[in-house]
Amino acid sequence: MSTRWVYEFGSGRADGDGSMKALLGGKGAGLAEMTRLGLPVPPGFTLTTAVCNHWFQHRASLPEGAWDQVRAALARVEEQTGKGFGDPTRPLLVSVRSGAPASMPGMMDTVLNLGLNDQAVVGLAERTGNATFAWDSYRRFVTMFGDVVLDIHPSRFQRVTETVCAGRRPQDLDVPTLQDLVARLKGIVDEQVGTFPQDPVEQLRLAMEAVFRSFNGQRARYYRKSHGIPDDCGTAVNVQAMVFGNMGPTSATGVAFTRNPKSGARVFFGEWLPNAQGEDVVAGTHTPLPINRAGGASGGPTLEEAMPAVYAELDGLQRTLETHFRDMQDIEFTVEEGHLYLLQTRNGKRTPAAAVQIVVDMVDEGLLGEEDAIRRVKASDLEMVLRPVLDPDAKKKVIARGLDASPGAASGRVVFHSEEAQELADKGEAAILVRLETSPEDIQGMTVARGILTSRGGQTSHAAVVARGMGKPCVVGCTEILVDYGRQLFYAGDTVVRRGDWITIDGGTGEVYEGEIPTLAPPTDAGAMGRLLAWADARARLKVRANADTGADAAHARMLGAVGIGLCRTEHMFFEPTALRAMRQMILAEDERARQRALNLVLPIQRADFLAIFKAMDGLPVTIRLLDPPLHEFLPSRPEEISAVATDLGVRVDVLTERLKQLHESNPMMGHRGCRIGITTPEVYNTQVRALVEAACLAMREGVVVMPEIMIPLVSMPAELERCRRQCEETAEAVLAEYGMKLPYRIGTMIELPRACVLAGAVAEHADFFSFGTNDLTQMTYGFSRDDMGKFFGEYASRGILATSPLAVFDTEGVGALVRMACERGRAAKPGLKLGVCGEHGGDPTGVAFFHAIGLDYVSCSPFRVPVARLAAAHAALGVL
Ligand code: ADP
Ligand code: MG
Ligand code: MG
Repeated sequence: MSTRWVYEFGSGRADGDGSMKALLGGKGAGLAEMTRLGLPVPPGFTLTTAVCNHWFQHRASLPEGAWDQVRAALARVEEQTGKGFGDPTRPLLVSVRSGAPASMPGMMDTVLNLGLNDQAVVGLAERTGNATFAWDSYRRFVTMFGDVVLDIHPSRFQRVTETVCAGRRPQDLDVPTLQDLVARLKGIVDEQVGTFPQDPVEQLRLAMEAVFRSFNGQRARYYRKSHGIPDDCGTAVNVQAMVFGNMGPTSATGVAFTRNPKSGARVFFGEWLPNAQGEDVVAGTHTPLPINRAGGASGGPTLEEAMPAVYAELDGLQRTLETHFRDMQDIEFTVEEGHLYLLQTRNGKRTPAAAVQIVVDMVDEGLLGEEDAIRRVKASDLEMVLRPVLDPDAKKKVIARGLDASPGAASGRVVFHSEEAQELADKGEAAILVRLETSPEDIQGMTVARGILTSRGGQTSHAAVVARGMGKPCVVGCTEILVDYGRQLFYAGDTVVRRGDWITIDGGTGEVYEGEIPTLAPPTDAGAMGRLLAWADARARLKVRANADTGADAAHARMLGAVGIGLCRTEHMFFEPTALRAMRQMILAEDERARQRALNLVLPIQRADFLAIFKAMDGLPVTIRLLDPPLHEFLPSRPEEISAVATDLGVRVDVLTERLKQLHESNPMMGHRGCRIGITTPEVYNTQVRALVEAACLAMREGVVVMPEIMIPLVSMPAELERCRRQCEETAEAVLAEYGMKLPYRIGTMIELPRACVLAGAVAEHADFFSFGTNDLTQMTYGFSRDDMGKFFGEYASRGILATSPLAVFDTEGVGALVRMACERGRAAKPGLKLGVCGEHGGDPTGVAFFHAIGLDYVSCSPFRVPVARLAAAHAALGVL
């Protein structure tokens, strides 16, 4: 048998079905399935995606036999409708509709009312006794065909239409005026490309080819790229008998969702227009009316009020569709003189919050099982659920785009300095902190600002990491803005935004908007997400901990389901003003005793912090990393700051400057940091361990169950760990003896250097656990730092050398091989060695899947990503890709 290029549907029978999306496109598969279900679908046929691919590969020619199959299918549509294609007295009109395997709403082209010409319009008017309708259809056809097929700019037709309509809707014009309008529209075509094609068969062929071409149009290409849809899937073409929503007051058209796509609420939701065709609603040229009052809509009349019988039928059909597809459907319908037709159904797009609400409700309704629900929700979407979202209906003007670093929307007044953010916050006002980049000094401003926007930096830049940890909306790497601190303004294209002006950022999309845009509270309550995650936890093997540096963060992480702290970074504690001052004294001290004196001021601060964390994590493990960054990070760098600090500490400026020179490093990432400080300045680690063990003892006295894990960073040589461990144990034992208490603590190391991976067996001799610091391990493995990779990453990405940043999406191939090797060697040397990950990749679904596969015990990530990691861990266990 020769290849089947055309699949027919109509009168309750269809060649294809809903499972054939790759071949028939989403729309074609949906039409076939609806037809099989016996739903009212106008008859038609689908040219497969294979025809499209052939057309592109063979210089715009159709495969052998395809056109004959089209003619045969067309004949059967004629039979079913009792009309003739090209018959001037009872003309069959069709729509020619694009439809790719993945839905790309509005990205490709469709032509309606095809088959009309100068004779057929007269015949249609006579047969229906409705000349207004016939001429309105011809006007629509000339406009759409001119735009889509003949490539004439739609604004040319619009201008003429607006002039003739003078404020009325075209379908409300009288017949002579409509005829005049059509003549003028055809005049535009004549002027641009010669005459308007009158032969319906020729029209059909041209329209099919235009749909193929639209698959490679700019809009469609961009959409595929930004949604990760492959470029070689092709589009199907659906040719379908027209039904007419523009035949007068008993006709209508509309779009509806079986549930609310913003909140997920189980309420039939939609919009309609009387006396109109589908594109009037979709193109947004008219303001549609709500279909019902159930969702609280005002305005109207609603379809329910205007056509109660039709509405009741539609409501019944939407239930049938949803039950059948077991997912929320987005439905297009048309009413022709009181008769209802369905023209499309597909799984509806929805907000992340709605996605969660819907699957949980569907489990309750018996439509889905718990595992189906888990599979349905994309793990990374959960990050967005707990944030406010921009009101999708609000008017917005995008002024710039950057990287979507931390999801959520925030509006506020622009400030350029931390202190200004604080000033506004003190007055109870919202601030957006705009910086070239942020540094640890900005932490305060970041804490009080509603959102953060930086012109530099990537997904793992300081601003991004910190903002995610805080759950604060953040856009980074927004190179489209030019920040001028001196003049207190930034440029975004030709918009100038000054200090105090309102802007809005959307950290989920990377967009920056002018002015204040209203937000909606996250519509899914913790209830639905909580239930979904409980189902996920029951299937996951990997445990999920959080990275948290304070008691408040720890409590928050626990609320989000973290079962421990996988990384507590102690350096953040040193930025508390008293601690920072003491640290600076310690760094400037001449001898060990002076250093210890200074550190004794730090001790109670750290102890209090640890105590708060232990209490928040009662009964759960807490991994505390000893000091990691090089000491110069605690000293000032700007000249005016240097003199201020010198005065404050009572040292001479030149003494401070000299010490700064000594501490200067060309490459701090590979500098005097991590365990290297622990070895050269043991007082630092000893003080930290003392604070930690004292806090543990105090907590235990209050009945708290404490499970500390002391983590030594940046080990590359087993001897480093051996020495640090001995030191830590001595201090810990001394403190425990003072308190007369016993404490089950572990000592382990952060694995973040390739050498440590290679020598993992020897390192494991001295470790109770490994925690992979995948941020540094990735940088050290690639040999570039995240602060500098921005300079070439753009070109690497555009040349396809590196598609995604390995700092955002875990590199399973290279870095992953090192991690796997370290696990194997570590566990071979010490069975039962506890293994975890504490880099940002702990919350990256690709990373989580990999870490599950190689048998780690847990991952640890920012509190806000804990839900993502929990769901991803279940996906890994269920084998969801
Ligand atoms: P898109 O993929 O952009 O939604 P469609 O192919 O669905 O494009 O067509 C756009 C609009 O035209 C739809 O809203 C639909 O209601 C209307 N339409 C398509 N085919 C027909 C038809 N056979 N009869 C009446 N209206 C139609
Ligand atoms: Mg559509
Ligand atoms: Mg590190």
